[in-house]
Amino acid sequence: VRTKPHLNIGTMGHVDHGKTTLTAAITKVLSERGTGGSTQYVSFDRIDRAPEEAQRGITINIAHVEYETDTRHYAHVDMPGHADYVKNMVTGAAQLDGAILVVSALDGIMPQTAEHVLLARQVGVDHIVVALNKADLGDEELTDLVELEVRDLLSAHGYGGDSVPVVRVSGLKALEGDPRWTSAIEALLDAVDTYVPMPERYLDAPFLLPVENVLTITGRGTVVTGAVERGTVRLGDRVEVLGADTETVVTGLETFGKPMEEAQAGDNVALLLRGLPRDAVRRGHVVAAPGSVTPRRRFTAQVYVLSAREGGRTTPIATGYRPQFYIRTADVVGDVDLGGTAVARPGDTVTMTVELGRDVPLETGLGFAVREGGRTVGAGTVTGVA
Ligand code: GDP
Repeated sequence: VRTKPHLNIGTMGHVDHGKTTLTAAITKVLSERGTGGSTQYVSFDRIDRAPEEAQRGITINIAHVEYETDTRHYAHVDMPGHADYVKNMVTGAAQLDGAILVVSALDGIMPQTAEHVLLARQVGVDHIVVALNKADLGDEELTDLVELEVRDLLSAHGYGGDSVPVVRVSGLKALEGDPRWTSAIEALLDAVDTYVPMPERYLDAPFLLPVENVLTITGRGTVVTGAVERGTVRLGDRVEVLGADTETVVTGLETFGKPMEEAQAGDNVALLLRGLPRDAVRRGHVVAAPGSVTPRRRFTAQVYVLSAREGGRTTPIATGYRPQFYIRTADVVGDVDLGGTAVARPGDTVTMTVELGRDVPLETGLGFAVREGGRTVGAGTVTGVA
């Protein structure tokens, strides 16, 4: 039984600044403390791995690791490439409660550093801790300058750069077991523990989990995986599968390969669902407390149109635009109406009405991504549901 509060965090930053190395260093340091590093996600025995993403030719390049500090349990995601980062942040695949911004002490702020900070702000990541990485190579004066530069960048995006913890680390040296740099990783984790607050979890709300993947276990049934968005679910609970339009019972519950009796908002879990045919449920469906949500197709939203620099469009959008909407884990086409606004240019924030091609569970405040041709072009928030 898990006793520590659970948070989702992740690394961000320019390619080659050391995100993956730092992730490895953190799990190594914590596993030496005896509290870290399972990368196992689902372990119900005899899984026939048939992830929906693979079937549809979409890879979501996202590595989950979990670890515990003295006070908390973390699920940590590393999004290695820039395209993965943008996609995972904007589609909400990585629902980060806080982020570690990795900046090379040698190179300082690079384009993706700034873009990731901007995107983090757009998708509502409220707390950032900075790892000034490769500090084994940088000289102190240069590193001081980089630190000032990073604090300015964070302030410019409303992160209160003066109060953000900035810790000098060397992921590589810590991974090699160097004691000085091992302590630096511990200092970074302390900063995350103390600076990133426990997010509000909607534990009293009715249970809801967007389906990320569907797996089949020979002889036992269908398993769905995903992060619990709100509420709690217990073994034996009746649930509704929206999209499959059926009700079933949760007969198995796991997190990171460990069985559990109850899962709560924020937990990454696998649910074994009784009698549910494999083909009935897909990524994009929602598992929820019966009767707690009504799918809809029309809504109003505020959308930030990504600039070309952020990988977005180079040309404006107008009424009649028909992109894909990524809402939770669902991917639905929709018609855009900008009302009185003639066009929205890359870099603009605009109000729009959207008519989706099918009903999905929607509510005010829900974030979503706008995509076209496999590329993310906007980040939005639902402002009203009709
Ligand atoms: P990512 O693209 O941000 O995930 O960066 P990687 O973790 O793949 O690291 C990029 C390169 O920088 C690799 O060659 C690493 O060995 C190297 N590197 C990462 N962290 C450090 C560090 O703290 N010190 C030094 N000297 N090299 C590092």
